[in-house]
Amino acid sequence: MDSVTRHILDLSRRGLLRGATAMAALAATRPAFAQRVAPMPVFQSDPFPLGVASGDPWPDGVVIWTRLSQDPLGDGGLPPEALELRWEVAEDEGFTRLAGRGTVLARPELNYSVRVEVTGLRPAATYHYRFIAGGVASPVGRTRTAPAVNTRPAQMRFVNAGCQHYEQGLFTAWRHVAAEPDLDFVFHYGDYIYEGPANRERSGNFPAIRSHNSPAVETLDAYRRRYALYQLDADLRAAHHAHPFLVSFDDHEVDNNWAAAVSARVGVSPADFALLKAAAFQAWYEAMPLRRAQMPNGPDIIAYRGIDWGTLASISVLDTRGFRDDQPCGDRVKPVCEEVSNPAAHVLGPAQEGWLFGRLAQAEAVWSILAQQVMMMRRDVGGADGDDQPRYDMDKWDAYPAARTRLLNHVRQARVPNLAVLTGDIHTAWAGTLRPDYDREGPAVGVEFVSTSMSSAGDGREIWAGPQRALDRNPHIAFFNGRRGYTLIEADERRMETRFRAVPYVSRPGAPLVDRARFMVEAGRPELIRLG
Ligand code: FE
Ligand code: CA
Repeated sequence: MDSVTRHILDLSRRGLLRGATAMAALAATRPAFAQRVAPMPVFQSDPFPLGVASGDPWPDGVVIWTRLSQDPLGDGGLPPEALELRWEVAEDEGFTRLAGRGTVLARPELNYSVRVEVTGLRPAATYHYRFIAGGVASPVGRTRTAPAVNTRPAQMRFVNAGCQHYEQGLFTAWRHVAAEPDLDFVFHYGDYIYEGPANRERSGNFPAIRSHNSPAVETLDAYRRRYALYQLDADLRAAHHAHPFLVSFDDHEVDNNWAAAVSARVGVSPADFALLKAAAFQAWYEAMPLRRAQMPNGPDIIAYRGIDWGTLASISVLDTRGFRDDQPCGDRVKPVCEEVSNPAAHVLGPAQEGWLFGRLAQAEAVWSILAQQVMMMRRDVGGADGDDQPRYDMDKWDAYPAARTRLLNHVRQARVPNLAVLTGDIHTAWAGTLRPDYDREGPAVGVEFVSTSMSSAGDGREIWAGPQRALDRNPHIAFFNGRRGYTLIEADERRMETRFRAVPYVSRPGAPLVDRARFMVEAGRPELIRLG
C-alpha cells in the first residue's frame, strides 16, 4: 500500500460527514472569483491523480506544484470554491526535518492547480515536498535548489527532453529520466502535449500506440483535459516526482507551427487565434511548475527567462514561437524565397533579443546555455530527386538567417563564453557547430545539441536517406540519430559532456536505455569531440 492510499483510508468518519455536507451546500453557486475558502470535500478517490512537480530552481528556493482533481478527464469533480491545501518541504523523505510549510489555495479559476514559490531554502541542496488536502497526502516529490550566486559547483548534470506525443509512443524514456541519479533539473523544450484529435488507427504518419476520446483541442477545458491525459501517465509523473523541471513551450502547446499572432491553419482570424492562445497559455500555466512571473495575460505570456547555475552556467530559456516573424515562403521544407533574405527578420522579437543580448554580454559563467526549441545551425536537406538545390526547413532558424547571424556575431563580438544551444522539435537527434555565416569559412562560436523526441514519431530508425543527405551536405553537422530518447548533459569548468540516450522502441513497454553517442566540448574550444 503506498502512502497516498494509506492516507485516504485514514480519513476519519467525522471528516467524511463534514465534507459531504459542505459539498452539497456549495455545489449550487459558481462565483467569478473564489474568495471564500470551502471546507475540503469528501474525496471519492486520490485527490492527487496528476502527482506533484517542481520547477525553476533558484539558490534560495523552488516552485512546487500540484493539482487537485477527482475527475481529471472530466469536469474535475470539485466544488466551485477555493480549497485550502497544506504544503511541506523537508530535508528528508520522512518529513522529520521540515525546511518550510504553509497553506495555499487551490482555486477553480486555475483549475485547482496550486503553486508555491518556496523560499528560505539552502542553495545546491536536495529537498522533498508534498501537499496535504484534508487528511490526504500527495506523493512525495524530490527537488533541488540552484547553487549560490558567485559559487562554482564542481559539476552540473541535467537532461534536455520534449516532444511527447501520447498516441505515437509510450513514455518509457521518461521512466529512464526518473531513474537518472543526481540530476539538477530537466529542461523541457516543449511539445508537452499535442493538440490534435483522437484517431484510433493512425496518428499522422504513425501507428497509434494508444488513443483517447477527445476531438482537436480548441477550448480551455479541452486543453486542461489534454494536460490531464498526459500527466496521468505514470512514467511522466515519475520524472516530475524525481527532478525539478525548467519548462518552455513549442508549437503544439497551442497549435502546429504557429508564429506570434498567426495560426498556421487556414482561415483562423487573428482575433480567434488570440482566444485560442489565451486558453492554451492558461492551461499550460496551470499544468506546469512555473513562477507567477510566467502567468499569462490573455494571449500574451513572457516565458523567456534566465536561470543561473552559480558561475558554472548562465541558462537562458527562450521562446522561439511567441515573437517570431511568420514563417517565410509559406513554411515547410523548400528552396529559399526572397523573404528569407529579410535583414530585419526575427526569431525572438526585439524585446526578447535585446534581453538575451544584454544577458549574454554580461555572462561571466563558464557555459552560456540557450535552452530553446527550433534548430539553430544550418541544415540544408537537399532534395530527394537528386537535384543539387539547397532546401531548408522554413520553421527553423534557417528561415531567418539574419536573426541567426545577429545572435552569433554578438556572441563572437561580446566574447560570450562557451555557447551551447539546446534544441528539440524535429523528433531526431543532431549535433553540430554554430557559425555566424555558413557561406564563408569562419570559426565556430558555439555548439548545438538537438534532442530527439521522447515518443513523437513512433519507434524511429537509426538513420535513413534524408538525414544521411543532410549529413553529407552540412560538414558542420557531426551526428544524427532517429530513435526516441533524450539528451543528458554533464558540465564542469573544463568540459561539457553530452550523451544521446535512446530507447530502441516506444510501441511496447519496457524498452532499455542505450547510448547512441557521447560528445565532449572543452571550455574555450567550440568543437565537438566524439567520445563514443
Ligand atoms: Fe514535437
Ligand atoms: Ca514542435
